[in-house]
This record gives sequence, structure tokens and C-alpha cells, in this order.
Amino acid sequence: MIENSMFEEEPDVVDLAKDSAAFPTFPALDPDEVVYEPRSSRLLVRGLGENDMDEDDEDCESSARLLGMSFMNRSSAHRSSSFPYTRQAPPRSCSRPSARTTIVCVLFLVIVASMSMVLYFLPGCTFTKAGCRKTNKTTPFEPVYPLSTNGKLFPWAQFRLPRSVRPVNYDLTLNPDLNNMTFTGRTVITMSVLHNTKIIVLHSAHLNITKATFKLGDQETRDVTILEYQTRQQIAVQLSEEMKAGQYCVLTLDYSASLSHTYDGFYNSSYIDKDGNKRVLAATQFEPLSARKAFPCFDEPAFKATFLVKISRKPNYMTLSNMPQAKSTPLPNGLMQDEFEKTSVNMSTYLVAFIVADFTPISKNVSETLVSVYSVPEKKEHTDYALDTASKLLEFYNSFFEINYPLKKLDLVAIPDFLAGAMENWGLITFRETTLLVGNQSSPLEKQLVASVIAHELAHQWFGNLVTMSWWNDLWLNEGFATYMQYMSLQTVFPTLDIGNLFLAVRFRALDKDALNSSHAVSTEVNNPEQVEEMFDSVSYEKGASILMMLNTWLPGKQQFRKGIIQYLKQFSGLNTDTDDLWNSLTQVSVSAQHHNVSEMMRSWTSQKGFPLVTVSRKGGQVNLTQEHFLLTSDKATYTSSLWNIPVTYVTDNCSLGPECIQMFNLKTKSGTLELPESVKWLKLNYRNTGFYIVHYGDEGWAALKDALSSNVHVLTQEDRASLIHNIFALSRLGRVPFNSVLNLLKYMSNETESCPVTEALLQLNVIYRLLDKRQEDSLVARMKQYILYRFGSLMDKQTWGEEESVSKQELRSALLGSACSLNRENCIQQAKARFKDYDESNGTLRIPGDLQPVVFTVAAQSNKDWETLLHMYQTVTHDAEKRQMLRGLASTQDARRIVWILKAALRGDIIQTQELPLVISTVCNGFTGYLFAWDFIQENWDRLIEKFPLGSYAIQTIIKSATSQFSTQAHLDRVQGFFSSLKERGSQMRSVQEALETIRLNQRWMDKNLPTLQKWL
Ligand SMILES: [Zn+2]
Repeated sequence: MIENSMFEEEPDVVDLAKDSAAFPTFPALDPDEVVYEPRSSRLLVRGLGENDMDEDDEDCESSARLLGMSFMNRSSAHRSSSFPYTRQAPPRSCSRPSARTTIVCVLFLVIVASMSMVLYFLPGCTFTKAGCRKTNKTTPFEPVYPLSTNGKLFPWAQFRLPRSVRPVNYDLTLNPDLNNMTFTGRTVITMSVLHNTKIIVLHSAHLNITKATFKLGDQETRDVTILEYQTRQQIAVQLSEEMKAGQYCVLTLDYSASLSHTYDGFYNSSYIDKDGNKRVLAATQFEPLSARKAFPCFDEPAFKATFLVKISRKPNYMTLSNMPQAKSTPLPNGLMQDEFEKTSVNMSTYLVAFIVADFTPISKNVSETLVSVYSVPEKKEHTDYALDTASKLLEFYNSFFEINYPLKKLDLVAIPDFLAGAMENWGLITFRETTLLVGNQSSPLEKQLVASVIAHELAHQWFGNLVTMSWWNDLWLNEGFATYMQYMSLQTVFPTLDIGNLFLAVRFRALDKDALNSSHAVSTEVNNPEQVEEMFDSVSYEKGASILMMLNTWLPGKQQFRKGIIQYLKQFSGLNTDTDDLWNSLTQVSVSAQHHNVSEMMRSWTSQKGFPLVTVSRKGGQVNLTQEHFLLTSDKATYTSSLWNIPVTYVTDNCSLGPECIQMFNLKTKSGTLELPESVKWLKLNYRNTGFYIVHYGDEGWAALKDALSSNVHVLTQEDRASLIHNIFALSRLGRVPFNSVLNLLKYMSNETESCPVTEALLQLNVIYRLLDKRQEDSLVARMKQYILYRFGSLMDKQTWGEEESVSKQELRSALLGSACSLNRENCIQQAKARFKDYDESNGTLRIPGDLQPVVFTVAAQSNKDWETLLHMYQTVTHDAEKRQMLRGLASTQDARRIVWILKAALRGDIIQTQELPLVISTVCNGFTGYLFAWDFIQENWDRLIEKFPLGSYAIQTIIKSATSQFSTQAHLDRVQGFFSSLKERGSQMRSVQEALETIRLNQRWMDKNLPTLQKWL
């Protein structure tokens, strides 16, 4: 899976038009909206700073209430100060089972004890108190079985399924009814008994099981009772006799259910066709835990089996599944039943997929595989690029992995309603329309996005589908690898897409996240659904990819890494693995006399959270390197003794640009010394930022690098320059260098012309600008604006507005012009307005280059009339990438009523699809007017949000981060803390909440420390 927006950089737009004093009259968008004349956006914020509310409070609050929002909830109940900073320890007593369960547990103590004795000694079974982690290993087991829905004891008390029975094959029959949004199904599971047992436990969620039969070996088929424990989405069959290891059995379950109204399980989706008619369809999204919502199954990645799928449909619809269609049979009720070939491979349940829709395909044969791209009929002309790209990448992977893609067909399908970016279902990859469909006229940057997502999902057909992690704790084996292969394959197959800059930027963001105390180890224990969802984050994806890149750079020759992963894929083909299996494969393959113990090195990167800070101190030719945990929240309480095995690379002024200049030093201990010739003027560690660490050069080291860059920027690669900029901002945030040193280094920027250093510097400065802005440090905001324009003004003015073929030039100009316009630079605003006018008047014949659309639409959205025009365009445009940029523009408005309208519309999902809500919220939060509205909106609508997006999911992570990352006062901290702690089991334990609180504290600390410096130096 690739999460949507994970690969997109932060929007650069800061806070356009915040100086506009009055709000224009707002045309009625929705008759239900309350007529409201906001006094001023500034007013709404006053009173929320350190000094709390003043006499304007009542006005502020009533204004917000008029908008149907709570404003900042000031009730004392929400001001809990007891919310702990770190993730709360599991409670001593069980919180998951209800009080009723507890009472029953006491009453049935004797039964439970005797039953547990029997079950405990079954192989592969251990029982702990339901819902609790073992807090003390010396305490004897306290088995407590939950109650089934029918009041009987449920015979299993763990989150993970027992290992005594394993599925071999599923026969799935599905009958969706798209008129009534329901479906019926029959699942026939053939199982093999691995250990003697009397129970079969599997998953089922929201399925109404109407009939269950069971057959053991050659015995007669008989009816059985299904026990269900809804809290864990488990069902069980309890047999009177024991099944013996080696026997086979068959469980047949008939059931009915509703099609899901969210984005997971077997869900309904719709779109409006070119004639204005609503067309409905049904599609699936099972990763990580939703296959159980479509059919009863052993829904853990290690339970691989084969699948045979049959789906009925109306004659004017088509169906797709993982395998090619085998036959199509008319049914007596006038419907058709499509049957697909049985899967030729064993697969995990989360990779099963089926679709009922009226899509049209284009196809092409690649080696032995028929590759097709499907879309709604009117978007067929936007599928060519995807087909061509997928075909080339499939050929690349077939040869790179030396294992051919194992299925006869590969479908790539654009689904109108889709939450993630894309999902790698084996043979049937599903995408958002924006990540698969591009027009021939689309800019290289838009094509880069589509190619990246296709490259990622195709890599999963090997990493994830063929070889799968045993459990979600090692999700990085899927996602880190697919992310790394995505960049590596594009660099080889499509070098003009210039993917390297994007990969560098996402590595910087992964470092930023991993510097928090609330981060987690790449390979981390997960014990509940929320924790499974939370694994889909930048640590699994981008940090995973970064450490693989670091390893590849460290291993000798170009082939050892590739040979190691080929060996890994061949050895574990069709099986499940954990992290050590990968390291062992990479260690076993040796292409040089020098033995590299990959396991020894890499375990230090996957088993502990965070990354090292390497500090350099130099005396003549002696360079001392020390390492410590780079932890932004570091005090005595959080001191860690973590050590990493760091493959340090470095270059010096003698040779600094090409790969032949790289020198290596392995830093395994707390400190180490390397020797340089005395004549070296400076050294730069972490060549091209291919290692996952940050470097501090000390005052002299930084001064030498700054001097070198001031006289000639080209003494270092652009990646190295960007790496210095990223590192010095991070060190300032850590408190190791004064902010003045950051500004000193940035002095060389006047000569900088390359995309990576400029975009990184602008991004970092924008973060500070936004914080100052939200704190209403008006004079500093003005000076920061002047500073950015002074440093980058001439470069901004040099940018062109026409079509641009080079991706890196597009990246550079979209960052520069985005900043210029957001800082109200006059010529930028004029140009953007003129482009929008031409575009509007061209009646669809003119196109704004893709990279400039965010700038142009954002500027347009600040005008009353153009916002309306843009909204009309949004509702009619068929080009999906453009549509998304229009939405970004619409959400950047500083008009309070429009902000409220757009938030509500995205939650409703009619004019704006709900899948776009995270984007809408993050864009609204960038602006001065919107960020408090967004925070109120989230509090007001929390329950609806977690109904749409699962707790812990990437969408929820994004929403929380967007809404809170710009707070920097104690008052805000208290309110955020109060709100989340009041949620209890509805989200208070999420890692993203800990991250949000930690970030606010860090913002607060940074402000306290640096405001005086900024006053002095800006
Ligand atoms: Zn993925």
C-alpha cells in the first residue's frame, strides 16, 4: 500500500492575504449555512495565546458557535493535567472486556480454571488475561475467556489466532446487490490440522452468519454453532471431539452483510458520469485488517492459502479479481456469475481483491503477462501513460529480481473513491484516480507521481506478495522495500523523472519524525488493531527505505545488495519472514573477500527507535567522532544509551564530488578516531545524505564549510548542500547550535540555484514563519518575510511561468513561486492572476503547467469572484491531478465562512469526496484564519472522523498532525491534551497524539529560546 500524500512534500503556501482587513460578502453556497459576518480572523485567535482569553472572549466564542463550532473548549473537564506525556502503561486491570465480562469471569472462575488447564496444554496455545499485556512474567497465567454474543464462553482469549489449524483453500461466492448496498456470500474453507485441537478460531466482522456446516475428513457434513466475540472480530467453532494433526476439515459459512460505507472491506463507491448520472460500483480494500469484513477468514498475513472467487453481477457490469476470469454463467435470476481461476500462488488474505463496476480497459502483453489499465469509461484517454509505465517497470523487475511475475495478468484499476494512494492486491492493483490517470499533456512532475506509485505497487508483487512479513510488527519489510525499490527502479528506468530529489526530501522528513521521543523502532511490537494501523507511517516506509539505501551504499560492489535480495526472494518465495531472515540472506551472499556482517550492523537500525547524532571534533589530522541518540526531547528522564553501528561516509576538500571520493569509517562504539592529512581544510560527513544520521561539525567545522560554500557552491553536491541545511536546522531545534548559526550558513544561499538545497531551506523557514504567524508575532513575521525575500528574491524573480520539461526545475520554481506568492510578492501575484484569467477565458483549451497549478489556484482562491469560478471548475474538470490542485486552492481561502463550508462539505462527501478531507484539513491549517477552525472542527466531529478513517490510520495521523503542529503555547498544549485524554478508547492512546503533544512542547521550547535571537538577528 502507499498512503496518499506520503510522497507529497508539504505545501509551501504560507498564509496568503492574511493582511486583508475585511471579509468580502459571502454568496450563499448552502441554504443550511448560518449567515455570519465574522469580525476579523485576528479576533478569533486573540485570547488563545499564553495570556488566555481577554474581554473579547465572549464575542469570539459566540461567533464560533454561530458557525456550529465549539471554539476552544474551556470547560475544566477538558483541562485534565494528568495526561501523561509518554504512552500510558497498560492498565493493571483489564479495560477491554466489559464490566459484564469481568463479573461473569468471577462467577465462572472454576469452569474457566479447569477449561484453561485443558486448553493451555494444547500445543501452540498460551492464554493471558483477555485484552491485557503480561505485566509481570512471574505472575501465573490468569486465563479469562470473554463471552460470545450468544452468552456462551468464547474459547479463545487472545488477539492473535491459534496456530493449530491452517487454511489451505477458500472458495468464495459473493452476490453483491448494488441497488440495496448489501451482499450475501458463501465461504468454504478447507483447512489442515497442525496440532490436535477441538477449536477453530478465525476472523469475521459485521457479517451476519446464517448457516454453518462442518466436515472432518471422510465424516458426514453436519451443522455447527458459530460463537462470535465481536470485540476482537473473532468467531469460533467448538467441537466435541478432538481433530488430530494431519487431518483435513472443511467449514462452510453462509452470511449476509451491508456493503461498507467507509473505505475498507467490500465497500461501495460511486461517480457521476458524463451525462450527469450517478454510477455505483463496489470495490475492496483489505489491508491491513478488513478482509474479515468481506468474508470469514484467518485474517493474519502468515495464514496464506489459495482462493477461488465467484461473483454475480448484472449483465451490464464487469467484475475483476486477482486471477483471470475462467468462465461466466447465466443465473436463473437474470444475473451473470463470473468465476475466476483458482490462485496459482498462496496468498495472504489482505491481498485478495474483487471489483464490480462498469470500467473499460486498455491492455498490452509483457512477457507472459497481460497488463491492463482500467478506469471509468470517460477517463480512458488518461490511461496510456500508466500502461506504458507499468509495462516497462514490470520488465525491469522481472529481470532485476531474476524471478518472473508469477500471474498471467496484472490489472491496474483507478477507483473513484479510494482513501490510500494505491493498494498492491496481487494481480489487481487498485489506485486513486490521481495516482494512476494522467493526460498526455500532463507535466513531468505529474507523471513522476504516477510512475512512483506504480513502481511502489509493482515492487510489492515481490516484496509483500511473494514474500510476506509474518506479522505487522515487520511491516517495513513490505513498505520499506517497496519504497526503496520505487526510487531505485525509477532512477534506472525513467532517469528523466529525476526522482532522487523527492527521495532525499522524504528521507529528511523521516529523520524529523524519528527525532521525537514518541517515535518507534522500525520493527515494533503490535498488539491491537490501532497499533497495526499506526505501523503505516514514515518510519516503516521512509526510514525503512533509508536504511536499505544506507546498507546498499555500504556493501561492496554494486551487486551484493541485489544478490542478497534475490537469494532472500528465492529462499522464502511463497512464505513469510521476519527481519532477521532478510539480514541473514544479505550476510550469506558474499561477493568480496571482505566479510560484511549485515545482521550485526542492521539490527542496531531496526530494533531501536531514533537515529544517531555524530559529532565531529578535529585537531589537525586527528578527527574524533562521537555518537549519541538524536532525541529532540532529551532530559535525564529520557536519556538513552542507544548505540548504532554507523557506516560513516565522508569527503574532504581534496575530493568531494564523485563517488570515487567517498571514504568509509565504521563507528560502532561511542567514539572513534579517523586520520586525515593535515592539509585538509574541511570534511563533510554522510556523502549525499545516504546515511540515516545527522552530523554536528562544531563551530569551526561549520565555519569552514560555510566559507567553502560562500566562495564556491559547487565544492559539494547539491544533496550534500541540502543535507547541511537540513542538519543545521535540526541542530538548532535540538538546541546544539544557536539560530544565528543557521542564518550564517544560509548566507551562501544567494549563490544557490539547485532545487534540493533551496526547497529544503524554504521548507524549514516556512515552518518557522508559520509558527511566528500563529503566535501573532507580527513584527517578527514581517521581518521573516523580508528575510526570505532578501535571500531568495532574485531567484524567485528569475523563474519562468511557461511549460518546463525538467522535473528539478519544476520543483525549484514551484517551491520559489509558492513562497513568493504566499508572501504577497507583487510580480508573483500579478503573474498568477494573469495565468488564472487566461485559463478561465480559454474554455479548456489552455493548461496551467502542473507544477504551477497550486500557486495559481491558491492566488485565485483569495479573490471572492475567482473562488466561485474555481469551485465551478472543480465540479466540472475531468483531469484528476488538476482537480486536486483546485481543491488545494479552494481550501487555502482565508474567508472564515468558506473555510467552514469546505470542511463540512468534505466531511459530507457530496461536492468534495471525503477521501480528500485530510488534504482539506492540512491546507486549511496552513492559513492563519483556518487553523483554529480546523482544530474546532476536528473536536466537534471526532466520532464521524474515526467512523470514516480507522483509529491510528495514516489519514487520522495526518489530520492530527496538521491540526496541532503549529501550536506553541501552554494554553494550546493544555487544550490538545485535554481533548485527546477525554477520548479514552476513542484515540487517546494513539502514537500520533503523543507526537502532537511532544511537537507542541518542542515548539514552545524553541519559541522561548529563540524569540530574543530572532528579534536581534532577523
Ligand atoms: Zn506499499
